[in-house]
Parts: sequence; C-alpha cells; structure tokens
Amino acid sequence: MLITTRFAPSPTGCLHIGSIRTALYAWLFARSNKGKFILRIEDTDVKRSTQSSISEIIDGLKWLGLNWDEGPYFQSDKIGYYKDIINFMIKSGLAYKCYCTSRRLDILRKKQLLTGKKPKYDRKCRDLLKSSGDLEYVVRFRNPISGTVSFFDEIRGEILFNNEELDDVIIQRTNGIPTYNFCAVIDDNDMNITHVIRGEDHINNTPRQINLFRSLGFNVPIYAHVSMILDINGKKLSKRKEVVSILEYKSRGYLPESLLNYLLRLGWAYGNQEIFSINDMIKLFTLKGINRSPSRFDVGKLLWLNRFYIKNVSKCSIVEHLKYQFDKNNINYSNGPDLIELIQLVGTRYNTLQDMVNCSRYFYDNHIILNADAAKKYLVKSSIVILEYIYNKILHLDKWSLEELLTMIHVSVVELNMNFSVISMPIRVAITGNTISPSIHIVIYGVGKLRVLSRINAALIYINKN
Ligand code: GLU
Repeated sequence: MLITTRFAPSPTGCLHIGSIRTALYAWLFARSNKGKFILRIEDTDVKRSTQSSISEIIDGLKWLGLNWDEGPYFQSDKIGYYKDIINFMIKSGLAYKCYCTSRRLDILRKKQLLTGKKPKYDRKCRDLLKSSGDLEYVVRFRNPISGTVSFFDEIRGEILFNNEELDDVIIQRTNGIPTYNFCAVIDDNDMNITHVIRGEDHINNTPRQINLFRSLGFNVPIYAHVSMILDINGKKLSKRKEVVSILEYKSRGYLPESLLNYLLRLGWAYGNQEIFSINDMIKLFTLKGINRSPSRFDVGKLLWLNRFYIKNVSKCSIVEHLKYQFDKNNINYSNGPDLIELIQLVGTRYNTLQDMVNCSRYFYDNHIILNADAAKKYLVKSSIVILEYIYNKILHLDKWSLEELLTMIHVSVVELNMNFSVISMPIRVAITGNTISPSIHIVIYGVGKLRVLSRINAALIYINKN
C-alpha cells in the first residue's frame, strides 16, 4: 500500500503556524514511509476563499521546502463532478433535499436550547415523498439513525460517537455548491488518501465523513488528529498578540530550518533531542510520537533556534535568504561587499536575518543615517584631529586588505598617542552612523575606500557646522 497523505487547507486567511505544523507532520509521514504527499486547496466556500490566501499557502510551503507530489488540486474545479455524485445519492436514497427555511431551523434550535437539548436538525424533510417544486433547498446526507461509529485515532486512540447525536449533515448548500464534509470525502477517496492527518477541530466531522465513506462503499482512511497550539499561558493563540502567519516569520528574518525544527518539536518528541535536520526528521518521525495534549508556543525558543541555525547552516543558504531581506528593505546588495563576504565580515551572531540586515546596511546605502546621540558624543571638535589623520592614512594606503587596515589602526594608536577606543569611536560613527559595529578595520574594509573618505569628509563638515 502506498502511504498517501494530504494537506487540504481552506484558503480563507493567512497560512497559520498551526496548519503548517499539521502539514509538516503529514509531509514527514509520507516522506518517512516513501509515500506520497498531495496538496489540495479546499476552496468551495467561494465567498471566503481568496487568491492571496492561495498564493500564501503555495509560497509558504515552497519556502519551507514542504514539496508536494501532486497538486495543487482545486476543489472549485470539480463542482460539476461533485454535483453529479450528489444527484446520484439523492436518486439512490443516500441523500435528500431539505426545504426547511433558516427561520424554521432557527426557531427549532432555540426551542431545543430552551428545553436543555443539544441543537440538531429534526429530520423533517428526511422522508418527504415528493419534492417541493421551486423552493430553495439544501441536500442532506441520510445519516444512520441508530448504532455507533468509531475510529482508531493514531494519536488519541479509540473514539466513538452515537449516530443518534449526529445531524444529517448538509452536503450541498442552497446555492448549489457542495460542502466541505462532502468534497473532502470524495477527494480523500479519489486521491487514495491512506492517512488523514489534520487538526483536532475536525474530530467532530470525522464520524460524519466515515458514514459518508461507508454509504458510498469507499474505504475509510486512517485518522490522526493533531492538537491545538496555544499561547505561552495556555490560551488560544491570538492574531493580535502573536505572529501566527508563516510568511510573517519569513519576513521577520527567520530561517525555514528554524521554523520546521521548532514546529516539529512543538508537539512531537524524540527523547531529549532538540535539533533535527530534515533527514533526521524523516528518519525518526512517527505518528505515535505526537503528543495528544495541546502545545504552548514559545517565541523565545523559536528565536533561540533561529540564532542556532543562522550560525550553523551553510553560508550559501543564508545568502539566498539574505537577498530576500535586502530586497524587502530596499537595499541594493550589489552596492557593497558580496553577501558571502558580508557574512565573513559581520559574523553570524544574530537572532534574525532582519537584525543582520539592519546591522549591515551602512555597507550598501549611499548615505548613512547619523544617530543623533552618537553624533553628539563623538562627532565633536576633539575628533577632528583623529578623523583628519585617518583620512590621510586611508587616502595614501596602497593596498586594501584587512591586515593592512588593522596595521594602520595599530600605528595610529601609537602615532596619535591615544587609546584605541578614543580613536575608533569617532571613525565608527562617521562611517556607520552608529556606535555599534564589528571591529573598525573590518568596517573600513567593507565600506570601501571612496565611501569611507567621503563619509569622513561629511563628518568633518558636520563637526564644523555644529
Ligand atoms: N479544509 C480544512 C481546513 O482548512 C481541512 C480539512 C481536512 O484536513 O480534512 O481546516
């Protein structure tokens, strides 16, 4: 049997970290069993589905490297096909048209609530003998009235429902469009999905879907329902407080490796191991290792992992992600050291690539932004002698190398008879606009001779003016 899993998002919002964790588990399960992973976009809810959400799903999965073997399939392409099956189900008595108005259903629901009953459709139209002409209708599945439906969840074990508790689920809306519960069953069958790995919010849909599978004579897949991700205090993640969109993490300078590693460990464990390469993940992943209790999202831990990966992934891979960050910040990265060289110059001790770019922009921008406090403290009359001295030294330097520049700085300490920091700070502020940077010879080297000279000049003009 070819293990086949799918990721079946509804494109109605951002690509949420919870959905991506589920996608990762489904992807890993397929990969670790040499199976197939399918991408299916569940876009039958025309009003809520958006093109931007579809692009976000595709971009997010690509960025993370969660590649799919088939798809993306779009359910909206298959409406006619679904409707043919629904018509067949009506003809063969597996489904029926329900003409109840939403007003009637509303009153029914309120009455049930008032008498302490669980709201449920009373099956008024289930046994209507003839159709009601032109009246609006939905199509409902004729769910078994008695007995039970149970399944073994790979994460949670045996789960059992009484059919009596289940509604006759709507499979086609009044606008003629089939619903999620129906389309998911048809597609899971057509795509030979062996394992449905999805969020626990779908547990209640599962018995309805199993009944649908059985009524159509289909094989029922194996289910695994993944728990929710909560915030650090155990409350529902809120979009206002936490970043929940995968692409927002990309934009903030996280590496895909960090997110994958973090999301994997958030709800799945292999002893105490913290760091997992993609190959480790594929080798070690099992559904049984998924925790059934909800996980708590800890952005501090994610930052720690990101710092780890920035230090440890290959420079070439950092360069690819850095290009995106530079473009996003409108910095022309060809206007300065090449990015591999930049990493050598500034090092990799950053929490995010966004931090790295923020700390490197003076290598590329034509004009620096002077930090007012730094300028006030270091671009002062007593710095003129230092800046003029260094200007001349640099102007007459024959060779542009890190060693040459380091020697030049050492010589200046002796010749000016000043402390190293007394010399380096005004130069640093003149060249970078700020008081924090890598060693001064590195800064001078990376910024380049012409730009260094013109920035020192500008600093001297600034001092004379103020
Ligand atoms: N489209 C559903 C959602 O985004 C997923 C359904 C499923 O995995 O069966 O929640």
